[in-house]
Amino acid sequence: MVKLKRNAQDMIEKVSFLQNGDDYIDDGKDIAIASTKKAVEKKSDKKTNKKPNNIKPKATVNNKNTLKQVVETAEPDDVISFFAMGGLEHVGQNMYVYKHKGKYLIVDCGMGFLDDDVGGDDTKYSDTTYLEKRKKDIVGIILTHGHEDHVGAMKYIWPKFNCPIYCTRFVGKFLTRTFNGMGIDYKPSDINVFDHNGASFNVGPFEIETFHASHSIPEAQMVVIKTSAGKILHTGDWTFNDAIPIENPTDYARLREIGSDPDLLACVCDSTEIKRQEPQTTEEEVGITLEGIMKKAPGRVMVTGYSRSIARIKEFADAAKAAGRSPCIKERSNPRPVPYVGLPEFREIAIECGYLDKNDVSLFKDISTIPAEKQAIFMTGSQGEKYAMLTRLCRGHVKELKLMPTDTIVFSAIIIPGRESEVSFLYNKLAKLGIHTHTIFDTEKVHANGHAGRPEYERFYDLVHPQVIIPMHGEYVTEMLNAKMAMERGGAKQMMLVHNGDIVRLKKGDEPYVSESFKTGFIVMEGETERPGDGIVLKTRKKLATEGAVFVTLSVDKRGYLKDVPEVSSAGLFEADTTGFAKRQIQIEITNAIKDLGKGERKSQDVLREAVQRAVRTVIRPMMGDRKSPATHVHFVFK
Ligand SMILES: [Zn+2]
Ligand SMILES: [Zn+2]
Repeated sequence: MVKLKRNAQDMIEKVSFLQNGDDYIDDGKDIAIASTKKAVEKKSDKKTNKKPNNIKPKATVNNKNTLKQVVETAEPDDVISFFAMGGLEHVGQNMYVYKHKGKYLIVDCGMGFLDDDVGGDDTKYSDTTYLEKRKKDIVGIILTHGHEDHVGAMKYIWPKFNCPIYCTRFVGKFLTRTFNGMGIDYKPSDINVFDHNGASFNVGPFEIETFHASHSIPEAQMVVIKTSAGKILHTGDWTFNDAIPIENPTDYARLREIGSDPDLLACVCDSTEIKRQEPQTTEEEVGITLEGIMKKAPGRVMVTGYSRSIARIKEFADAAKAAGRSPCIKERSNPRPVPYVGLPEFREIAIECGYLDKNDVSLFKDISTIPAEKQAIFMTGSQGEKYAMLTRLCRGHVKELKLMPTDTIVFSAIIIPGRESEVSFLYNKLAKLGIHTHTIFDTEKVHANGHAGRPEYERFYDLVHPQVIIPMHGEYVTEMLNAKMAMERGGAKQMMLVHNGDIVRLKKGDEPYVSESFKTGFIVMEGETERPGDGIVLKTRKKLATEGAVFVTLSVDKRGYLKDVPEVSSAGLFEADTTGFAKRQIQIEITNAIKDLGKGERKSQDVLREAVQRAVRTVIRPMMGDRKSPATHVHFVFK
């Protein structure tokens, strides 16, 4: 199916969100290499001897698609539509869809991250109801690269569709381990691996070409979607980081050819970092910075970064060796119940793919007895993730490794928006311990971003001249800046700044427009439970967190007359003082409110409940301010 085409190059990224490091189970299932030879390669990477634990195959719960299928009339052959299930106006939850000749092609299937007030450590992903109703017309999912915000929802969403998956080997190996760990029912032939140096293949009515772009993870791809309606360049995440130790830079030659093709109908382009004015720091420069720090540091040096940034790990290892240190990774020691491919597994995958040599970087246990000043340790936790190594270290939860005042800790990462308070906790904790730190705020070239800044966008739009620009993967303001530059510098004729669920109709020579909009949403995964993002459980939790709750138990007879003083308790409103003033006030208000009800009214539980809610508000508002309206829960005891 996949025709290997060119010998192009290789690549890298940055925003490798929040990995905690967890167990996976490799049961020996494999991925298919769909090439001209249609070979099925048997994997020999039974690297783990972990036995399957009792993880329930959660994702298979969603396997049954019972939604009534929608029958649509196919649009004319010279029309192609684009829409996003998630990924516009926010970073994360990337899931984009192209429709042509009545068939749907999905590009990426990623996780988003929740606000702290509804459980910051849980993850969310797109509600795919719209697509599930069109399941029979979905021809495949292409994954541009292996970051969580692009592939992390596959374990939950793919079983709903069971369609062919197209990805490079790095992503394929990661996905295989995740699917095996989750007990997801898939066939090796479901995962079609294409050449990361460039490939061409067909998916339904879509002719696909992929080529390499540099990013902070190996094998990131730009995707060209060719149809009888014209071509679309879908960039995925990209930067122009031209000095990467493990792979080639972006395939500029092919980018120029595609970008100058008059048939290039649209460019759907990453917008993440367009606000940044400074030119890209290269991985090589980060390596030089790390080497300088490691040569001067008196004791151990610990570097925290993303587990999928293989190029960074390589730079770290080379810097350590140049400074006379032994590089290692500190593997997790606290597997969580949900399987996860973490730092040790990414090291293994990188070795399997030839990006790292097994001697490049060892495991901490192999070097734990050598003198501290000879140690260099790479670990996760740069975003203060709860179970990641650095956070656990700062909390003193790692038995075999304790922080010492002679340690130096290097944050080789930005702070992902939304993680400020967690990272601030780490900075403060380390400062209190007297540990020397290096961060992006005090040390130059300590991190190379996986996304392009303004200077790289200028180069990009010197090469790429689409008719229509559709910015993605950014906040509204960065998407707008991207679109403006595409028009001013790249010669785009129209910009389409759209929302998730807006279906953009594209036709050569016609103005693009939003032909239809549907409601998008997200699902929150808490442990093994899926919840709608706008559902009552999460809404209630948010309300409880911000406004507190009052719990009232009413003892009433059949006629609705009080038989006892109402029991009142609260959460997050006033002290748990059973003789408290607020409690007594509420009891009095409730008693009076019920007394005022007519004979007929009081027989209705709804009327009684409303009377209680009114009474609670009457007491709470003067106490807490007009804007506070606590959740009020009423229980009835009939006497
Ligand atoms: Zn990425
Ligand atoms: Zn991304």
